[in-house]
Amino acid sequence: MKTIYNPTPKEWAALTRRPTITTESLNESVSTVLKQVKERGDQAIQNYASLFDGVQLEDFCVSKEEIQEASKQVSEEIKQAITVAASNIKKFHQSQIITEAKVETIEGVTCWRKSVGIEKVGLYIPGGTAPLFSTLLMLTIPAQLAGCKEIVLCTPCNKQGKVNEVVLYAAQYLGIDTIFKIGGAQAIAAMAYGTEAVPQVYKIFGPGNQYVTKAKELVQTQGVAIDMPAGPSEVLVIADEQADADYIAADLLSQAEHGTDSQVVFVTTSKQKIAEVTEALETQVEQLPRKELAKQTLTNSLMIELSTLEECIAFSNEYAPEHLILNIDNAEQYIDLVVNAGSVFLGAYSCESAGDYASGTNHTLPTNGYAKSYSGVSVDSFVKKITFQKLTKQGLKNIGKTIEIMAEAEQLIAHKNAVSIRLKKLSNE
Ligand code: NAD
Repeated sequence: MKTIYNPTPKEWAALTRRPTITTESLNESVSTVLKQVKERGDQAIQNYASLFDGVQLEDFCVSKEEIQEASKQVSEEIKQAITVAASNIKKFHQSQIITEAKVETIEGVTCWRKSVGIEKVGLYIPGGTAPLFSTLLMLTIPAQLAGCKEIVLCTPCNKQGKVNEVVLYAAQYLGIDTIFKIGGAQAIAAMAYGTEAVPQVYKIFGPGNQYVTKAKELVQTQGVAIDMPAGPSEVLVIADEQADADYIAADLLSQAEHGTDSQVVFVTTSKQKIAEVTEALETQVEQLPRKELAKQTLTNSLMIELSTLEECIAFSNEYAPEHLILNIDNAEQYIDLVVNAGSVFLGAYSCESAGDYASGTNHTLPTNGYAKSYSGVSVDSFVKKITFQKLTKQGLKNIGKTIEIMAEAEQLIAHKNAVSIRLKKLSNE
């Protein structure tokens, strides 16, 4: 990891830039994929499956038999873990469903808001370098709680045309059976435009690599809603002298192993901790099956020394990490200083993996600095909020004059008339 000692705030902007593919080349390649799928549908998907995933696919739809068969291959231990995680995710997301009160803004004028599930949603479950069945739980549970009627799932398959068995088991566990073996930008295109096999949806959710994230960004400009740009994972750990270097290194590696386009950042007030974490990283990385990926990510990653914890948090706010770990004494005391982060983990024992899998919070979070303006996925992401209002005769009388004055001042006389005509009739009653 590159180490920087006491950078000035002027230098922070350059340090917060992520190691992404140059935008033009990514834009160009993903735009081509989108255009091809839009024009040639399933045939284009077959070509890209062969080109990018090395698989020849006749049919992309996962059959009921495949789902049943996969379930038999999953151990009881994994099934049990999925049950516990799903229960916690459900509990936490259920608490987000609130019925808002009806409000009488003026006598006889009542306004309220109702959440209605988006009817057709598409969920992308990454599967390029790791089968993220946890993402399936993170997206499907809030979609179901929100009342989405049609849930379409896309996920890459292996070279033999098989989707990971745990992904299929998790889908079956949650009662999802519309699953397509499609990965990357072509999956996003399929759900955005619809093809012969894949139904078109109104909103697309899910994390993914840079191709997936760029595809979501581009289809959004064409009128398909997306959850947010949830690209290559990242973590920023802030630690003080008391923190255990082994914990810090383990947390950094937990995101470094995602892929070479990920980034991890360690910010501390302690020079000593930088030395300890460097040593711990060297030892721990060697034990990992994905050590080559993790090592490469570490070369894109940073260790930064700053003078105070307040300064560390200010840097983090500028970076706006997807995950922020505050491995510091009395972490709760610093909560109000955090203004830009996807999800925050407080204290020595709140490792980020807890949020990735089973504590209950959602792991689909904004990356690449988008935590400055976006939130992670929640039940809210899957609903539209429709407002309602009811005016009684008295209500219209009470508010009518105000509307007439404002409409006239805006020179919208038809607007004014909609009130005046009613008030006139009412005055004759
Ligand atoms: P993926 O499913 O996102 O992407 C795999 C697909 O990418 C393949 O099916 C292939 O079609 C396509 N692809 C591969 N190389 C390509 C190329 N050269 N050109 C065009 N398309 C190509 O799986 P992944 O690659 O393992 O990435 C998963 C990502 O999700 C990781 O970066 C991880 O960090 C991220 N993630 C993010 C969050 C979040 O909330 N932000 C959560 C979990 C995972």
